[in-house]
Amino acid sequence: MPKNELQKILVVDDAAVNRQVLSDLLKLEHTVILAKNGEQALELAVQHLPDLILLDVVMPLVNGYEVLRRLQADPRTAAIAVIFITGLDSAQDEAYGLTLGASDYITKPFNFAVVRARVRCHLQLARQRRMLETLANVDGLTEIANRRHFDQCYAVEWARAVRLGQPLSVAILDIDLFKNYNDHAGHAMGDRVLQSVAAALVDGVQHTDDLVARYGGEEFALLMPDTDIADAARLADQLRETVGSLAMPHPESSATDRITVSFGGATLRPGLSESAAELLKAADDNLYRAKKEGRNRVVWREGEQADLE
Ligand code: GH3
Ligand code: MG
Ligand code: MG
Repeated sequence: MPKNELQKILVVDDAAVNRQVLSDLLKLEHTVILAKNGEQALELAVQHLPDLILLDVVMPLVNGYEVLRRLQADPRTAAIAVIFITGLDSAQDEAYGLTLGASDYITKPFNFAVVRARVRCHLQLARQRRMLETLANVDGLTEIANRRHFDQCYAVEWARAVRLGQPLSVAILDIDLFKNYNDHAGHAMGDRVLQSVAAALVDGVQHTDDLVARYGGEEFALLMPDTDIADAARLADQLRETVGSLAMPHPESSATDRITVSFGGATLRPGLSESAAELLKAADDNLYRAKKEGRNRVVWREGEQADLE
């Protein structure tokens, strides 16, 4: 297996000799990252997002308990499994460490075979957790976010937009006359079109906060936090053009001779009191209008053509 496919373990210990021993023990099968104190451990955890952390408890300044508490408080690192590996060997110490949320507890001096076996076991669990996360949030055909993930992000971004008084834009887009396409080109070709459109949309959004998801059969949703009407409609129109410029032939389309998409969008502005569901409904209504007005276009709010200049 190439090195970059190895699972990552962060070893945290203030004693150089312990770091060395654990590193030697694990580095043949795993990528090992070393931290010599709590602060460094927290930095490296965020930077590398390891699959597992072996954490010493007694360290100067920030001890292992505090490191675990801070890892759990940060959404980026909260799910990383932590094994305490420590000289504190009473049953109370062990029980305390596990109550704090550690996945396992190993006392020093440790047995090499036991450490290896427990590490393997927790890495296997980490791999399974990641797989479940992917299955739950990613659409199997297009490999982009699925509707479930979109709904979760939408709820979070809605709350944030309302709290901070920021605009939030959402768009729903739908492939034009896709039933016709499937009927003539076949379902397998239809699937490839869905994959190409998904990839073009993901490539086309530049803002890291923007989310593209497969919303339904041939519908996609686009979530644009902190984006006003003008910017959102401009991005939607660029994406519409990008899909058209893939030049995937659609001889049966009455809109053009290629695969095109229609967008309906809506933007929450500070002070407006629509619900999250109403905003999405407004986007969907505008998608309906875009279809009625001839397809291959972007319609934003109240059926007006968005000002894209
Ligand atoms: P409109 O422009 O009004 O959206 O017309 P349309 O034909 O695209 O709309 P309609 O809702 O009638 O048809 C959607 C089609 O999308 C029907 C279905 O066969 C196709 N579709 C939905 N999901 C999939 C999929 O996963 N793979 C393929 N190949 N086709 C799909
Ligand atoms: Mg369609
Ligand atoms: Mg549809």
